[in-house]
Amino acid sequence: MESTPPPTGPAVAGSLTLTRPCAKCRTQEATLDSRSQPVCRACFVKFISGKAMKQIGILGKEIPTTRTNATRRYVLGLSRGVSSTVLLHLLNENVEFALGKARAAPFDLTVIYVDSSCLYGSKNADHDPLAPFRARFPRFTFRSVSIADALGLLGIDWSALPSVDPTLLPEQRIWSFFSALPSAASRADILRLFTRHVLLASARSLDAQALLLGHSTTALAELTLSETAKGRGFSLPWVINDGGVEYPPAGSGSSTEGEDRGRKILVYHPLRDALRKELSVYMTLTEPPLTPFVAEGAVTALDSAVVSHKDLSIEEVMFRYFAEVEESYPSVVANVARTTGKLVRLLGGEDAERKRGCGMCGVPLDGEGDERWRGELGIRGGDEEEKTRGKLCYGCERSTRG
Ligand SMILES: [Zn+2]
Ligand SMILES: [Zn+2]
Repeated sequence: MESTPPPTGPAVAGSLTLTRPCAKCRTQEATLDSRSQPVCRACFVKFISGKAMKQIGILGKEIPTTRTNATRRYVLGLSRGVSSTVLLHLLNENVEFALGKARAAPFDLTVIYVDSSCLYGSKNADHDPLAPFRARFPRFTFRSVSIADALGLLGIDWSALPSVDPTLLPEQRIWSFFSALPSAASRADILRLFTRHVLLASARSLDAQALLLGHSTTALAELTLSETAKGRGFSLPWVINDGGVEYPPAGSGSSTEGEDRGRKILVYHPLRDALRKELSVYMTLTEPPLTPFVAEGAVTALDSAVVSHKDLSIEEVMFRYFAEVEESYPSVVANVARTTGKLVRLLGGEDAERKRGCGMCGVPLDGEGDERWRGELGIRGGDEEEKTRGKLCYGCERSTRG
């Protein structure tokens, strides 16, 4: 369709005269715009689901089913925002499609919602935010896991973090930990990292081979720039690319034997080729629309990561920036994410995994890499720095201590 010249006059399809024919099928009236082309609803839906199915197919090939491994087990991180809700819908379509062809379901899926409502003081025990999801997607298993679970995870080095009163209940403890962080930007940053930890730990405990995240092209581009701005650019290949991570990371306090031993989990972003605004449109086009499933306010995807609105976090700045860029220059957004995708994991697979990782984000602490960022962004001194030296990367140290 890229090579098809734009129509010069009314096109004729059967006996119908189309005033604005779809640039892809040319038989339907275009009602939407997709990457500067007029398209019909059916072609738009096919375009988005095709992009996701391609990625899900790539992942499936990474995990071949054999006699000893008869089932692929995936975990989906659901934030109840647009992207992860759309991904949930597409994964369901994928399963329905296989079953409709009398084939086995291509994977088992457990959907994990990391509940951070205790940080907002808005905990409502009677309200199950997952109830509508369970009703709509009965084939999948849904679980809500509290962000307070981060307190017990081996992948986080709590000895390197500001200490919290151990006599408090877990949800109070995590609340006071977040309250003591230096800024809204720090809270958003640490909440994102803890959420990732809780998801990876859940995937590991469920013996899942892959963790699926809903990040769109736009979200990955935002993450690229915000992580770079925070001095964690070194971590990008682990955060943006699809691939395996060991959880808990080597040297993170986990023993090398038995229960606690790290296991490789593939982290995939099947919506990496779709723009955020496209997913917002897609959400309205499914039958029935997914719109009511998306958490109130999460349409902007902002507040899910922000505890206080006092100041703008880097994430918010990036969000606003890319909302504008996406509108006029979608290819710029795609290029940011794609260029990062080409970065290699500098320390290389096996070797990197044996090195000690940052106690917060898990990225291997390479003396040179970390020092490079430290040098560019300034050095702090004092006892606090001594306590964390060598345990946290520069970005995580800044986020927890300012
Ligand atoms: Zn069409
Ligand atoms: Zn770190």
